[in-house]
Amino acid sequence: MLEELKEANEYIVEKIKEKDELILEMEAYAQEYNVPIVTKEVAEYLKFLVKSYKTKNVLEIGTAIGYSGILMAKEIKENGGKLYTIEIDEERYNLAQENFKKSGLDNIISIKGDALEEVKKIDDKFDFVFIDASKGHYMEFFEDSYKLLNDGGIVFIDNIMFRGYLYKEYPKRFKTIVKRLDCFIDYLYEREDKFVLLPFGDGVGLYFKETRKTEKI
Ligand code: SAM
Repeated sequence: MLEELKEANEYIVEKIKEKDELILEMEAYAQEYNVPIVTKEVAEYLKFLVKSYKTKNVLEIGTAIGYSGILMAKEIKENGGKLYTIEIDEERYNLAQENFKKSGLDNIISIKGDALEEVKKIDDKFDFVFIDASKGHYMEFFEDSYKLLNDGGIVFIDNIMFRGYLYKEYPKRFKTIVKRLDCFIDYLYEREDKFVLLPFGDGVGLYFKETRKTEKI
């Protein structure tokens, strides 16, 4: 979370009253075992976006224990949508399977493996891509998943401002990741389509794939 906005975020989080038992259980688990999941206000925004855009298919890169996946799969189910979600870590993948089962949702395709390889194998199209895995590979995740994105689709990139290290002093060990993320942001601003950078959560990037105009013959 961006430290500068900590108090504002705390205020927002206080206002959100979660009632779903499984979601509460997963939040408690993530806190106890230090599993990085989306912050509460980002979770709300994710749900808001997929709901208001009447999203069908979603691709998630970085399942962890299935928290954001379940939130999105619930919203898209009523639109006949499916969630594809990829996780590299075996233990987290297994925990996610248990949580997906408990959720009773039948529209989740959970993939175990490295998203750098797995995204390339997917034969489907998406309205929404959620990138939330190793930050050093955001550019590759973006380029691979963009190929599967429908016109009018959105790529949601979480943690893009990496604890604020992109604009303030950072520990030397993060130099490569910080440089990569900074280049990635420049690259997104320079591309066609629309990109917006939002300073909440840990920094959110939203990329909108415009519908290409076809020339009349
Ligand atoms: N989206 C989840 C949520 O909010 O509930 C949190 C995801 S967590 C921030 C990032 C996850 O991405 C970790 O569980 C990590 O093991 C996984 N990951 C990292 N690199 C990956 C890769 N190359 N392919 C697939 N998963 C990856």
